[in-house]
Amino acid sequence: MRVYLDHNSTTPLRLEVRERWLEVVAQGLGNPSSLHASGRRARALLDEARERVAAALGVHEDEVFFTSGATEANNLALFGSLEAGASDAGLVTTTVEHASVLEPARELARRGRAVAFVPVDAQGLPDPAAVAAAVTPRTALVSVAAANNETGALPDIAGVAAELRRRAGPRPRLHSDAVQALGRVPVRPSEWGVDLASFSAHKIGGPAGVGVLWRAKGVTLAPRTHGGGQELGLRPGTESVAGVVAAALAFELAVREQAEFAARTGELARQLWADLAALLPEVRLLGPPIDSRRRLPNTLCVLLPNTDGKVLLTRLDLAGLEVSAGSACASGSIEPSHVLLALGLTRGAARSGLRLSLGRNTTASDCKLALAVFHKEFVSSRAT
Ligand code: PMP
Repeated sequence: MRVYLDHNSTTPLRLEVRERWLEVVAQGLGNPSSLHASGRRARALLDEARERVAAALGVHEDEVFFTSGATEANNLALFGSLEAGASDAGLVTTTVEHASVLEPARELARRGRAVAFVPVDAQGLPDPAAVAAAVTPRTALVSVAAANNETGALPDIAGVAAELRRRAGPRPRLHSDAVQALGRVPVRPSEWGVDLASFSAHKIGGPAGVGVLWRAKGVTLAPRTHGGGQELGLRPGTESVAGVVAAALAFELAVREQAEFAARTGELARQLWADLAALLPEVRLLGPPIDSRRRLPNTLCVLLPNTDGKVLLTRLDLAGLEVSAGSACASGSIEPSHVLLALGLTRGAARSGLRLSLGRNTTASDCKLALAVFHKEFVSSRAT
């Protein structure tokens, strides 16, 4: 039997979502930009999906743009904001962002833009006042994720928005990568006071390859790709109608079931952490404390002293438990996670982090099994 505790990487496609996807594919639709009946049927489905996503997020449908995933949505938010502004427009972000924000930020810096990376505290949380203090009159965009995929830390996005409003001078726009927050904690981008937010369907039981960029009315973005006029010219290319329809259902279900998800996975994760800490007192929990309201309910990022997280991960995998550790760089060499380094860990310590992330179908018996495997493999990995 295998136990999958890597839901922050991706989630299994929900049955209802798969059925909806197949239903739409089976219809043999036309291109939603075509004017004939098959095209109009596709257009109607696309419009309806946009309305459903908008309703789930509490925003207007004209503000919802479909992309190929959150990586593209994040790139569009960053490059699109800076390229729509003055030629010296700059960016403020944090040191713990996902690679799909950090790498565009680094690329913008290479192209001569002023980019500030605000550090986080030992729990992985940026101080909203420090984020606002990094803003200069040239800052066009501030980007802070609503939930960290590794530590589960939940930065105070509304606090960042409030600090930005408090500053004298022009207010930079605020973007939040809300990929890991959706379906796990309440997500209301317009109430947070942000202007742009990114989402990904495959983190909430939807298909991979479908993302959403929410852009508040009146916010201008330069497109990154040029072609037909789809998505109001902001993201041209023929839409994946079946994928988008399936994604819209996943958004609806995730938002509808969010409170139940948080209660269920929160209880299981707290129990799993309590059992783990009792069994292996040397293991440390990273990120905000277990009962903090500033942590994702489903995520446990643990530090295993004197253990190579990647080696343990492989052993756990062979024993049937799927978890995740840091991020391997493209060359295949093993780099410690930039997020764990940003918490102040040494490179050696950062290599001993492991992340367990629970999902909507995770059960108490999955957690018991995971605990037993974890204990056995951790103890034997130290003996060898
Ligand atoms: N942001 C965060 C916080 C993520 O966890 C991920 C997925 N690992 C992404 C962005 C990228 O999303 P996608 O896979 O849809 O490109």
